This record gives sequence, structure tokens and C-alpha cells, in this order.
Amino acid sequence: MLKNTPFDNYLTNLRMAGQRLGFTEIELKILQTPDNVIEDRIKITRDNGEIVEYNAYRVQFNNACGPYKGGIRFHQDADINEVKALAAAMAIKCAVVGVPLGGGKGGVQVNPKVLSASEIEKVARAWARLMASNIGVDKDIPAPDVYTTPQIMAYIMDEYEKIIGHSEPGVITGKPLELGGSQGRGTATAQGGVYVLEKLIDILGKNKNELRVAVQGFGNAGYYVAKILYEQGYKIIALSDSRGGLYSAQGFDPEKIFQLKQKYGSLQNIYCHDDICDEQKLAIDQVQVITNDELINTDCDILIPAALDNQIREDNADSIKARIILELANGPTTPAADEILSAKKVIVVPDVLANAGGVTVSYFEWVQNRQQFYWSESEVLQKLKPIMYDSFTAVWQMAEAKKITLRDAAFTLAVNRIMQAMRLRGRNHS
Ligand code: NAD
Repeated sequence: MLKNTPFDNYLTNLRMAGQRLGFTEIELKILQTPDNVIEDRIKITRDNGEIVEYNAYRVQFNNACGPYKGGIRFHQDADINEVKALAAAMAIKCAVVGVPLGGGKGGVQVNPKVLSASEIEKVARAWARLMASNIGVDKDIPAPDVYTTPQIMAYIMDEYEKIIGHSEPGVITGKPLELGGSQGRGTATAQGGVYVLEKLIDILGKNKNELRVAVQGFGNAGYYVAKILYEQGYKIIALSDSRGGLYSAQGFDPEKIFQLKQKYGSLQNIYCHDDICDEQKLAIDQVQVITNDELINTDCDILIPAALDNQIREDNADSIKARIILELANGPTTPAADEILSAKKVIVVPDVLANAGGVTVSYFEWVQNRQQFYWSESEVLQKLKPIMYDSFTAVWQMAEAKKITLRDAAFTLAVNRIMQAMRLRGRNHS
């Protein structure tokens, strides 16, 4: 059987939402097609003098609600189909939280791990030169994504400003604070997810002090969500990174684990070396070493995938014990797993809602750059909270009213907003 691509999943969700909303065939077709696909080659000279070329992309999916917005990834597997699906997801995500931006995504098909810092800078500048006439503060605003950093955003901004001849920090978000980045961007994705969870727990009448949480991934999204939830009184019973995980029935302090991970290199290295684990230390700390598959099936109340896509699938969804899944990763649950979870009455808070705090604070960064007036972290959080609360409430109410999943509701709400904007622009017919 052929595996559905992420773009196939987008098309399936779109068709279902379109039927629900009574879209015409032409309207559906318009939302199946990106506005612009820019695909070209960039060339750099490596430190050893060798000239190499890489595929470079930008997909501008839809700008009915505002300028295209979305990250750039540097990855050896980045291809145009993946970038297209991610661009469509960005349009949906921005519409779910109602920020006045559209959807875009970019990439370079390169393994940055084999490049030096100066070679990475050359790739970033070459991408900026290639895309300079397509991006812009009112046109298309890129941001970081997999293996792209605030430093890379700084190079792209600098190259772009050299070309246009004046300062324009709002052309890109996720910049270092010194160059116009926003306070609170680092924790925004996790914090946004926590706000959404707060609302859900409130509706379900649960007490957070009694809830056990398992988090997959211990990077930006996973570490901060574990830390914030721990500080709020949730019990963090399982954590993992790419090398595997740790379980503790009495719970971890994520900050302590973070410090130990810095020291030992990975979570399991805190207890193990070359696959041999210190059983005595594990027994004293009452910790167990677990695999990432075991983490997914941990006996917990809330499961937070915060690493990669495709982690909750047809083959493991049925053994999931959590009653709530908060998707901080993009695309962690396959459509087949979604059906199983829905039948088991597991509440899945979809990525386009759960991790939208990130793009919301990127939007705040763009606003601050445009007004040349910067907010404190507490101001950023004060503005983020009502957006996440209201977005969750709107999605929840639609799911309840139509007896559909939160993912279907989020998608329906978003697609409806985009189509309304298209209709008002008169762009809903051929
Ligand atoms: P990151 O690179 O900071 O961290 C990724 C973490 O996942 C690392 O701890 C890594 O060890 C772990 N990991 C990698 N492979 C794994 C595996 N097979 N099993 C378990 N863990 C594994 O990345 P991030 O920014 O935290 O992003 C994580 C996810 O959240 C991605 O899907 C990303 O698209 C999504 N997301 C992030 C943001 C953001 O603002 N950071 C916003 C929206 C969505």
C-alpha cells in the first residue's frame, strides 16, 4: 500500500472540511493549489574551494489573510512536496489562531551537519539572493525551521537589506534579540500549548496536580513544555530525546534533567554508558530506561509528542493509554491513528492549534519590527494568552456542535476563514 504523503493528508482534510462547508468544486481546487512555487539551485564555494549546488525552495501557498509566512529548513530530505505540505499547514495554522498572515515554507536540500559555519552562512546568503524579489515585509516573511537558527535568520536579513538598500528587520522572524527578535519567542510554542491545555483541563474539570505527563523530544518545544508544566504542578513522569527516554513514577524536575543532559550528552547517558546502565543509580533514583516507542505507550494522562512527525501510527495508537494528546510536533499523528484514537475517545489537540503559539509570537515580532517599538516578555505573554484561549474555545465549540474531532474542527474553522477572505477578494472563481 502506498504511504500517504503529508500533502495527501492536507488534501483529505481539505476535502472533508470543504464538504462540511459546502465549497464549490472551483473553491476546493483553489485551496488545493499553491499560489507560487519557486524552485531553483543555489551555488556556494566550500572552504576547500569546491563549488557545490543545492536545490532551494520557497512555496507560497495562500496569502488571502495576509503575507505568506513560514520557516525555512536546511535538511538533506527537504523536497518540494514536503515544503508544499508544510506551506499549506502554515496557512491553516495562521487561520486557526486568526493572525493576519498566510502560509509559506522554504528549504534547501542540504545536510548542514557536514558544512562549516562559514559554509552555512554562504547557503543562507545564497538563499536570500535567490528569493530576494519574492520575499518582503508585506509579501513573504520567512522564519527558522528544522536546522535553521536565529543566526541564519540574521544572515538572511542582512543579505536582503544589502539588496534593497535599507533596514527591514520585519522581512524575517526568529531573529536574535539584538537584531529585532521578540522576547518570549524561545518559549512561545511550549507556552502556547500550555495555555491551550489549561483551557482543556478546565473544561474537563480535572486537577492538574493529579495529572501525569509524558513528553517525547527534549528540544525547544519538549524541554520548555515539560519545565512549564512541572512548575505548574503537573507530574512529568517520562521524557525522551533521539537516543531514548527515562521513566519515573514519582516524576522528574525537567530543569535538573536538562542540566544533566548538558553534562552527559543525552537523557539515557545520565544513567548509561555504551549501552551499559548503572542499575544501582537507576534503583536509587527509581528511574527506568525506556525506548521512544515505550514512551508513546506510557501509562500517563497526557502525552506530548514534541519531536518528529509520524510518531503515533496505526501500529501503536491502540496501545496508547493517555486520555489527552497535545501535539507540539508538526504532524506527529497519522490519519489512520487519528481514527483509532477518536474511537477510543482520546482527545487529540491538533498541531495547528497546540503549537501555534510559535507563529503567533513570530507575528508579534513582525508587528514590533514594523512599529519599531518593543515589548517586554510579560507583555508578549499577556497578548499570547487570550489568542490561545480564544482559539481553543472556538475549536472546542465547533467540535462539540458538529460532533467532530478537534483536528476536523480546527481545519474547518481555518479553511472557512481563508475561503471567506478569498470570496471577499473575489478570488473564489476561475
Ligand atoms: P529541536 O531540534 O529543538 O528538538 C527536537 C528534539 O527531538 C530533540 O530533543 C531531539 O533529541 C528529539 N528527537 C529527535 N528525534 C527523535 C526521536 N526519534 N524520538 C524522540 N525524540 C527525538 O526541535 P523543536 O523546535 O523542539 O521542534 C520539535 C517539533 O516541534 C518539530 O516537529 C517542530 O516542527 C515542532 N514545532 C516547533 C516549533 C518551535 O517554535 N520550536 C513551532 C512549531 C512546531
